[in-house]
Amino acid sequence: MSKAQFLTRRDFLARIALGTATLPLLQLAPAQAADLPHLSPDDPAAKALSYTENAAKVDGKAEPLLKAGSHCGSCNFYQAAQAKGDCAPCTIFPGKSVNKNGWCRAWAAKA
Ligand code: SF4
Repeated sequence: MSKAQFLTRRDFLARIALGTATLPLLQLAPAQAADLPHLSPDDPAAKALSYTENAAKVDGKAEPLLKAGSHCGSCNFYQAAQAKGDCAPCTIFPGKSVNKNGWCRAWAAKA
């Protein structure tokens, strides 16, 4: 077997492995964008990060991490490309959608 044939086989196997690993992700993406349940502020994970559906109602004295103008719509974790109405998935809360006017302590400015 020549060196060129060995590399071709390696490339072939690598492509199969890559396709096997990414196919499930490609199949899940459209379903997540369309019908994720809204994150409730009463959800234990939401409570842990003080998630609220309205950043304007957050007391800045009680939440020193709150920065002026911060809300889900301006957060790096908000998946705006998958938004449905005023809600979109948030990578901090997998399987849920958050309100673009919401806020939590994990807020980070868009990169
Ligand atoms: S991480 Fe960002 S987008 Fe997600 S809930 Fe918190 S502020 Fe909103």
